[in-house]
Amino acid sequence: MITDKIKNDIDEIQPGVIADRRHLHEHPELGFQEQETSKFVIQRLEALGVEDIRTGIAVTGVTALIHGTKPGEGKCVLLRADMDALPIIEENAVEYVSQNKGVMHACGHDAHTAMLLGTARVLLDNRDQFSGTVKLLFQPSEEWGTGGALPMIEQGVLEDPHVDAVFGQHVSSGDPTGEIQVSGGPIAAAADSFKITVQGKGGHGASPHQAVDPIIIATNIISTLQTIVSRSVDPMKSTVVSVCNIHSGFADNVIPDTCELGGTVRTFDPALRDSAQEKLTKIAETVAEAMGGTATVDYHRGYPATINDDAMAELVRQAAAVAVGEDLSKPLEAGMGAEDFSYFLENRPGAFWMVGCRNEEKGMTWPHHHPRFDVDEDSMAFGIKTMVNVVLTYLAS
Ligand SMILES: [Zn+2]
Ligand SMILES: [Zn+2]
Repeated sequence: MITDKIKNDIDEIQPGVIADRRHLHEHPELGFQEQETSKFVIQRLEALGVEDIRTGIAVTGVTALIHGTKPGEGKCVLLRADMDALPIIEENAVEYVSQNKGVMHACGHDAHTAMLLGTARVLLDNRDQFSGTVKLLFQPSEEWGTGGALPMIEQGVLEDPHVDAVFGQHVSSGDPTGEIQVSGGPIAAAADSFKITVQGKGGHGASPHQAVDPIIIATNIISTLQTIVSRSVDPMKSTVVSVCNIHSGFADNVIPDTCELGGTVRTFDPALRDSAQEKLTKIAETVAEAMGGTATVDYHRGYPATINDDAMAELVRQAAAVAVGEDLSKPLEAGMGAEDFSYFLENRPGAFWMVGCRNEEKGMTWPHHHPRFDVDEDSMAFGIKTMVNVVLTYLAS
């Protein structure tokens, strides 16, 4: 359990945590290109004196260990921070503005990395307070491509030593500084994408009877796709099917040959995910066939839903209440965004929580991925206190 002394220690290291975050903010790197970020993390870990630093995992990923010295058997708990930035031109007029033009820490992963380094420092200084092992994990590319979590897991980060539980946190500009939000069950959606290519038969705009119009087929497919959510999903559950782009034709008097649609499908429930894919494919193919054309569906499965373990979420809630106060420990409402921490939670029990970083007075109210997004740095002490107490509580359980 976190003590007043440890809370004071965390308050005292804040200037260092803020300096780290600002350094990372000034030098953002895109997914799987976090070479300098990774070097910075490694340097910090070496200076701290943590053990078994492993580097270059899934290109730039890093892990390291802290062993508790309190007698007892002890489990192994993994703490994860993501390190990547986004392809955005920063519009903040701050002294720590991005020096890498066109790349910006606009999601707060700079704060996640700085908070995990701060957490490591405090846990190392308080090794006599716990038995067991803390595995620190710095992950590349949460925002891009396949994500960094899955390849790190495939390269064995959940073994040697065997990890028993996984925890991670994300700052949230939608919630006031210091609020810690967590709940059991689904908290972020599975994010899949699709492309539908409708093949018709081009012709003169004045002679539709001699052509097969792929645009009218596509609009019928779009209308019918709306029935997946409205007519086949339990109204008490959530699914999103959005067609987000459509491309066809070039002239006002030519019926084109093909029409392409693209979009996203979001679900929490794995069974609904399977059925949405199946229904979408069937609707596209059969509507096209009924109208004399064909449709080819290219369906891509992205991150799975992020599902917190009920018991672990309750452990985090209680740990946060002790660390930052009962009044700041709140339930988390699920959102349809996606997060590749989901892969860790598919493999081990654990929980992911939000740390409010919104501050109206400081003008830090812009949403994530916005060119003016910024993190109220005071939030980082709340995140570190919660993470430290989650570790102490879990390893004592
Ligand atoms: Zn993001
Ligand atoms: Zn993020």
